[in-house]
Amino acid sequence: MSRPFRIAVLAGDGIGKEVMPEGLRVLDVAAAKFGLNLEFKHFDWASCDYYTQTGKMMPDDWKTHLSACDAIYFGAVGMPDIVPDHVSLYGSLLKFRREFDQYINLRPVRLFEGVPCPLANRKPGDIDFFVVRENTEGEYSAVGGKMFEGTDREIVLQESIFTRTGVDRVLKFAFELATRRARKHVTIATKSNGIAISMPYWDERAAEMGKQYPQISTDKQHIDILSARFVLQPDRFDVVVASNLFGDILSDLGPACTGTIGLAPSANLNPDRKFPSLFEPVHGSAPDIYGKKIANPVAMIWSGALMLEYLGLGLPEAEQKPYLDAHNAIVKAIETVLIQGPHTPDLGGKSNTTDMGEAISKLIK
Ligand code: ATP
Ligand code: MG
Repeated sequence: MSRPFRIAVLAGDGIGKEVMPEGLRVLDVAAAKFGLNLEFKHFDWASCDYYTQTGKMMPDDWKTHLSACDAIYFGAVGMPDIVPDHVSLYGSLLKFRREFDQYINLRPVRLFEGVPCPLANRKPGDIDFFVVRENTEGEYSAVGGKMFEGTDREIVLQESIFTRTGVDRVLKFAFELATRRARKHVTIATKSNGIAISMPYWDERAAEMGKQYPQISTDKQHIDILSARFVLQPDRFDVVVASNLFGDILSDLGPACTGTIGLAPSANLNPDRKFPSLFEPVHGSAPDIYGKKIANPVAMIWSGALMLEYLGLGLPEAEQKPYLDAHNAIVKAIETVLIQGPHTPDLGGKSNTTDMGEAISKLIK
């Protein structure tokens, strides 16, 4: 048997502290059932509690601790009434993404049976795709400046940076993901009819990458109509790959089309596996419901399933199966509980966070 996977557990703030125990409960049950080799390291930092005690979000040697781990299982960060968001977020999560070169932000978008869909006449199966967002460069490169500040001649310039390495690696990830999917289709989000230099380059690199994957069909859609189709024709999509800005928007719009934010998971990946990847719910710390124990734990639990799948895929093929089976079993248990309950209030139910976590665990056992 291979060495244990070491997982850093950072619950963070607010409902992060309420959904994390349910995520861990499910991982424990899955580990026992499928014989997974997981070792958890709990840290109380990357939280606003730690900040109020120490004046910083994390200890100086945070990187040493996390570099020794294979993955980071992260709850949520932010207590805006106590610590400004730019301090909490830049002092933790955004540091991880940057320092660990987590250049893929991956979000599954899926409509489950039993969950009311905000789009009319949509049934489960109609919405089942992935958004792959470039997470390190593009439109979010902080390069630029101001001239003639404070005068009516003021000029503000901000550059977008697209490197061949950066573009190719996100495209490659998307095509690889599509090879493991039934429909084998990649949609390239672009805007080469309006952004005259970077987006035609993006299209060119996508066409080039596509040549290496003859089994994958592709289409290219401008971001404006692509967004409209998320709402009007979500059944068209399988894997959608996008630059940092476009991906940011699509990866919120996608989950919004499938009901509650309490379901949506995400992965920040360093697919080279040089650094740990991070798995977290899309939602934040939700101070408005914190303390009531009514947060939906599915996003946290599903993020844990994504983590097992990702860790498994890094193993030699002969050792992958228990991890992939555990992922599938967790997703199946989520599907069942979303149909039959118990449900937290965001799903229209009256149950609490623990009820839902326990029900999912029981189904896996
Ligand atoms: P952040 O800046 O930390 O992302 P936010 O206020 O932007 O915080 P969330 O914390 O995600 O966003 O909360 C948005 C809304 O969704 C809130 O009304 C919150 O109660 C609700 N919400 C978020 N997560 C859940 C969950 N797991 N279960 C139920 N409701 C949730
Ligand atoms: Mg938010």
